[in-house]
Amino acid sequence: MAGVSRLQYTTEMRLVRVMCSGRVDLEFVLRSFSNGMDGVFIGGCRLNECNYITHGNYHALNMVLLCRKIMEHIGLNPERLRIEFMSSAEGIRFAEVMSEFGNKVKELGPLGKREGIDQNELKSKLAEITKLVPYIKVMENEKLASRLQSPEEYDKLFTKDEIDKLFSEVISYYIDPEKCQACITCAKRCPAEAIISAKNQIHVIDQGKCIKCGTCFEVCPPKFRAVTKISGEPVPPPLPEEKRTIVRKGKQKAERDKE
Ligand code: SF4
Ligand code: SF4
Repeated sequence: MAGVSRLQYTTEMRLVRVMCSGRVDLEFVLRSFSNGMDGVFIGGCRLNECNYITHGNYHALNMVLLCRKIMEHIGLNPERLRIEFMSSAEGIRFAEVMSEFGNKVKELGPLGKREGIDQNELKSKLAEITKLVPYIKVMENEKLASRLQSPEEYDKLFTKDEIDKLFSEVISYYIDPEKCQACITCAKRCPAEAIISAKNQIHVIDQGKCIKCGTCFEVCPPKFRAVTKISGEPVPPPLPEEKRTIVRKGKQKAERDKE
């Protein structure tokens, strides 16, 4: 409506159209900051006016509340991220909000500079957090699905302590070589192709590729329980390649009988 009505608003913005504000993933926001954006604005339909049963705008709101706390955690001003809900008929409001947000971002200056964060440090912090997005989503799954009814509840959804704990106790997954039976289930289900897998070979997680989604932990058959969660201590080094071949008990016996 703002365009049709020829309303003026800041030109220093780039529009990215999505079908629903719920489609805006936490990773998209972090990537925008990594790519040099000084602020991110998300516009969604009014709460409770979603055309679909999914109510994606509630999800977008929760994601923004979470992301703002993460920004605080890494030293960024959370005001660089804003979400507003409005209908497509509210062109005047859209133009006003955009200009207001544009001025706010200008006042805050280039990302990280006003906050006193070194650019390289900021880049690596953002890259680290972006890699943890699947883990963050799994850990905060319930809260991300909540439907807050008033702005007073917004600040209480995610607390500073909770976010600090989330990052200080990051879980890693490790395959116990003594228990793995090379059934390949985890490797087939891993969304990041982070499991080094081969027939009759003890499976090994490539920690550099692992996105900590926990799928391998969930799918490893209960009779093996070979995947363990590790938090607060270093992950043991991967088993050397030459020691990964599994010698089955039956085969061992047959070989012994032959001798
Ligand atoms: S937690 Fe397991 S399934 Fe998930 S990415 Fe890491 S290795 Fe793959
Ligand atoms: S699912 Fe469990 S037993 Fe099977 S390959 Fe993976 S870690 Fe090994």
